[in-house]
Amino acid sequence: MIQEIQAKTLVSRVPGDDRVFGMKYNLNLYRGCEHRCIYCDSRSECYGIENFDRDVLVKVNAIELLEKELASKRVKGPVGFGSMSDPYTPVELRYNLTAQALQVLARRGFPAHMNTKSDLILRDLPLLTQVPNPTVAFTLTTSDDDLARKIEPGAPLPSARLRAMQTLAEAGVTVGVSLMPVLPFITDQPETILAIVEQTAAHGGSFIIPWFGMSLRDRQRVHYYACLERLFPGLRERYEKRFGTSYGCKANDATVLSRAFTQRCAEYGITPHIPRPAPPEQLKLF
Ligand code: SF4
Repeated sequence: MIQEIQAKTLVSRVPGDDRVFGMKYNLNLYRGCEHRCIYCDSRSECYGIENFDRDVLVKVNAIELLEKELASKRVKGPVGFGSMSDPYTPVELRYNLTAQALQVLARRGFPAHMNTKSDLILRDLPLLTQVPNPTVAFTLTTSDDDLARKIEPGAPLPSARLRAMQTLAEAGVTVGVSLMPVLPFITDQPETILAIVEQTAAHGGSFIIPWFGMSLRDRQRVHYYACLERLFPGLRERYEKRFGTSYGCKANDATVLSRAFTQRCAEYGITPHIPRPAPPEQLKLF
């Protein structure tokens, strides 16, 4: 069900120095996400979204808030979209909040970083190219469309994300991959990880940000385990034995995977962080 809500605030400051994504600010235009990835951490109780898989809450006053909040920011740092909900979840087709937010950033001179699993981002390519230093990370947990249909049932397929990546790269947008989470026993085989590196390089990606594991807690774990029982019989028991009630769940042979990943990325010149131009004050030092 789609519900329209009035948000109190929109833009939050990213704490500390974000050396990987390089973001200064974060925003989410929606709460809930129609991509329904079985592992999504946004289902956790701390985020207070009661029916994550049923409801999408639309912040209908988001653009007004964005104008007001950006006007008071002294630092024009990158604004990240999509930490809690995909900015191109299908309801975006109806509300256009992401497109409108990009227009605001372009007008006010703030760089944008998009995290998405959707090729709907191509609709906004003309807007993205008006924003200073736009960057896009497509989340890829596998390059296998059949496996993705199981674990990311509402999201466009990896093959569509890769084609979109290529189109954006050809238009001069810095693109890459967010390779997270890596699901133990499901996507943690070396060939799965290395195939993502190769596909990223083949489609114009210049960075991959990995996390060799996943998180599990409270009602998100309950949901994930119910999905495992339905989709991967026998796996729930292996998770319970391996991880108990741990929040952080490492991929099998995470160190070996990380080493193979790093080596293959180096061969293709792919960085483990988003390449960004140095800020003007840093350039002056050299
Ligand atoms: S696309 Fe991201 S926010 Fe949406 S369900 Fe999947 S993991 Fe969660």
